[in-house]
Amino acid sequence: MTRQIKTNCPRDCYDGCGIVVEVRDHGRHRVLGDPDHPVSRGKLCSKCAVAYNGVWQDPGARLQFPLKRVGAKGGTAFVRISWAEALDTVAARMQDAMASHGPQSILHTHYSGTLSLLGFLFPNRLFNFLGASEVDPDSICNAAGHVAWSLLYGSSIQGFDPRTARDTHCILVWGANPSHSAPHAHEHWLNETLGKVIVVDPLRTETAAAADLHLQPRPGTDAALAFGLLHCLRLMGHFDDAYIAAHTVGYDEIAADIDRATPAWTEAQTGVPAADLHTAAAIYGAGPSLLWCGQGLQRQATGGNVMRAIGLLPALTGNIGKPGAGFCYLNITPVFAGIDLAWLGGAALAPREITKVSHMELAARLERPDEFKVFFSWNTNPLASAPEQARLRAALQRPDLFMVVSDLFMTDSARFADIVLPAASFLEYDDLTFSYFHLIMGAQAKVGEPLGESLPNAEIFRRLATALGLREPALHEPDRALLDAMMAQMNTGYDFDELKRRGHFTLGDSAAPWYADQVFETPSGRIEIASAQAEVMGLPRTPQPWADVPPPDGQFRFLTPASKWRMNDSYANDPHIVERSGPAALHVNPRGRARRRAGGGFQRHRPPAVDRAYRRQRPARDRAVVQGPLADAGRHADERELRAQRPQRRHGRQHQRPLHAGQRGPRDLRFARVDCRS
Ligand code: SF4
Repeated sequence: MTRQIKTNCPRDCYDGCGIVVEVRDHGRHRVLGDPDHPVSRGKLCSKCAVAYNGVWQDPGARLQFPLKRVGAKGGTAFVRISWAEALDTVAARMQDAMASHGPQSILHTHYSGTLSLLGFLFPNRLFNFLGASEVDPDSICNAAGHVAWSLLYGSSIQGFDPRTARDTHCILVWGANPSHSAPHAHEHWLNETLGKVIVVDPLRTETAAAADLHLQPRPGTDAALAFGLLHCLRLMGHFDDAYIAAHTVGYDEIAADIDRATPAWTEAQTGVPAADLHTAAAIYGAGPSLLWCGQGLQRQATGGNVMRAIGLLPALTGNIGKPGAGFCYLNITPVFAGIDLAWLGGAALAPREITKVSHMELAARLERPDEFKVFFSWNTNPLASAPEQARLRAALQRPDLFMVVSDLFMTDSARFADIVLPAASFLEYDDLTFSYFHLIMGAQAKVGEPLGESLPNAEIFRRLATALGLREPALHEPDRALLDAMMAQMNTGYDFDELKRRGHFTLGDSAAPWYADQVFETPSGRIEIASAQAEVMGLPRTPQPWADVPPPDGQFRFLTPASKWRMNDSYANDPHIVERSGPAALHVNPRGRARRRAGGGFQRHRPPAVDRAYRRQRPARDRAVVQGPLADAGRHADERELRAQRPQRRHGRQHQRPLHAGQRGPRDLRFARVDCRS
């Protein structure tokens, strides 16, 4: 006997697909795309289609019972223990740490192992209530972009409504690879638009290959390319002078930089042919046009500046607040739906300002003997995702550091844990899901009991609160009460059971007309091309036409594009995924490989200080700490220095054009796959 249950995918993904599960009383359920869902249209992405029917339901792969480490940290020796022993042990160590070093000596790290709202946010209530320290979850993933567009537009979480694509003349996709990270947007949304598609990406991704025009800049030259496009747009008469005068501040301060970014200069800086630059400007400038910037774009040195520079395109051409126009980084759909995310995460429970630790400094902070005594990792796998892996592994060997990991699987991080807590999967509890691109909210429906003794995230932390002797009602609120409250906040007119029956709902009947009033949440209420806030943060007052200097001989700049078969490290433990994706490999231009031999191997290249400053900052609305001035914040801004970089750039460009193995690049360069271990 099988029956079908609608649910939704809670992965950290733009698409937010609808799912249908064929529930079987015995054996594995069958997980499929929901044919009634406007994004998935009956089909899951390649990775979920395999893993949700694979390791997600595999008792041999999943963690089923609490475990206690009995061997060396990082090893495989664990024994099964009861939940009571696990939680009592964790609670006792947390209490010891609080008594001896204060609650801030408990550091928790979390991210987007699941984005379903209860699983993603409710556990924060406990840590906030205690006053524990937190690894800032966005610090690597997308913080620089948030800060940059908050400075420019006042918000980075409200972009265009994707439904407005039906009215657009052009979709400019900059630094995103939907073919791998938003596969349904690639297959349907981009494919079906009547407008032209332009892709800017150093890699010729599948989305880039399918576009009407692909601009392929050298990595790290996006800001220079943006200024080059602005130069052409202005020459072609596509600047909207009335819009600039009415809704922006600071244009005069970048006018000279736009003057200098001639097509010849831009081609020299970026490698993008001047003719392509003209074509792109003509298409985008005809408008109305959409700009979609990916998260990967800002994960680079000066990534915040890159986002500010590219964000000038809609501002100066007036492509904001009208059908078919706009910009998008991330749409935080639950906020637009009315859900109070701060309430769900218990922000108000914190007794003091929470100590935040950036991923960038995690290893260094953890290796200090006295700052953190308990390290609690849930919903994330820092030993696959945080920087300075060797240093972090060494820090986690500290004998006095008590580590707890909650996860579905025995991850790299879990192997360092003293106690491992098994988490239930999205198929095993009710929750709410969302897309951060499409304006769709979904019901995550429980289709079966948790595997073994695993528990939903929220239940794990309710039980831990009990073990800690905490009676605060907010720490014990049951899932159904939380779901009912969120349904009431969304004011849908029906309850969670009805949402489960429907599967999902889309906000509004048609595309949301965002920014039609041209009001921006900046200090001036306008788009701030020149930003006093940025200056206070130690950042340049205006976006700069910077281009990274190529690495010297013997050093390489690597790109780590999204995989079609994995989501960061997720799915990497599924044998069918491993088989399909093959071993990890890097692709190097053969000429570059020769240079490597001559240069004597790879060396580490630190990002400049200005990028670290963007990542340390919080968006303006919740920023509490102001950074001091940076000594080198404006060093690339000088035109003479930009000119001085040209010979170096030409010298280095041949190894700056990574493509897929065997693929032919625009200038006859073939790339060879090499063994990562060599
Ligand atoms: S494309 Fe994204 S939302 Fe859809 S099934 Fe795959 S991971 Fe889930």
